[in-house]
Amino acid sequence: MIIDGKDMASQVEAETRTRIEKLATQGVVPGLATVLVGTDPASQMYIKLKHSACARVGIRSENVDLHEDVSEDQLLGKIQELNRRDDVHGILLQLPLPNHLDARKAMMTIAPEKDVDGFHPENMGALLLGAEKLVPCTPKGIIYALELLGVKLEGIEAVLVGHSNVVGKPLAAMMLNRNATVQVCHAYTKDLAEHTRKGEILVVAAGVPNLIKGDMVKPGAYVFDVGINRVGDETIGDVDFEAVKNIASAITPVPGGVGPLTVSMLLRQTVQAAESQTNK
Ligand code: NAD
Repeated sequence: MIIDGKDMASQVEAETRTRIEKLATQGVVPGLATVLVGTDPASQMYIKLKHSACARVGIRSENVDLHEDVSEDQLLGKIQELNRRDDVHGILLQLPLPNHLDARKAMMTIAPEKDVDGFHPENMGALLLGAEKLVPCTPKGIIYALELLGVKLEGIEAVLVGHSNVVGKPLAAMMLNRNATVQVCHAYTKDLAEHTRKGEILVVAAGVPNLIKGDMVKPGAYVFDVGINRVGDETIGDVDFEAVKNIASAITPVPGGVGPLTVSMLLRQTVQAAESQTNK
């Protein structure tokens, strides 16, 4: 089975619209502010995708475009200004930042209740303690898809490839919170295939085209390919899709899998942030 991320995302959008209509009865329109530093084409494309998704469901969105030479003080000042605004419920800082800026410091400046990407240490800490609030959108999308597919996480063997703060680490915590048995592999893992073959769920977020071949996957596994790699004119994932699709019981395509799910979780979390800021 191919896991249709676009279709799942449109279900999330429908639910989100209903919640937005409810907020409207309280006179609230959820607002998302994105902050983009510089002119990196991939970042510009992601920002555009996020804004058009907001427009589809009725989230008011705006982008703060900052020059690539912006100073740290100016960036942090802009974030603090957004923190103070009542019509901005979610703030997303598009990464990566130019080298002269400290991404961690910038993330920590975002008010935790507006941190719709879930990267603030307060939200990461809550996640690790099993009290999930706002969490990183890609792992949240994967958990959502597994729930929709009816996969019981308790006791399942989950193998994650990649231990970044954006995907692998928070996903490991989310899976542990649901009592899965989790193994996290990365670039220093000695025998990757030995681990990946054990995964009843296999999530790959390495950024290495076709890293996972057919003989590295357990028959019947649920495979989530997070990777986005530009190879020539094509965008491909980290999993050799053609080889693995006949071995796995379900697999996400690239594009059209984890990407749309991630964006849909951003919408959901923006509405969640607006609801909790409205009802506090
Ligand atoms: P990252 O560079 O921060 O981390 C990569 C991880 O993969 C590290 O843990 C590294 O040790 C591991 N790794 C690298 N080479 C490996 C190898 N040969 N074998 C095993 N592990 C290896 O990357 P990231 O930000 O987590 O992103 C990973 C990929 O996922 C990228 O292609 C990125 O574009 C994509 N991504 C997609 C979405 C989405 O919404 N679809 C979201 C986030 C990231």
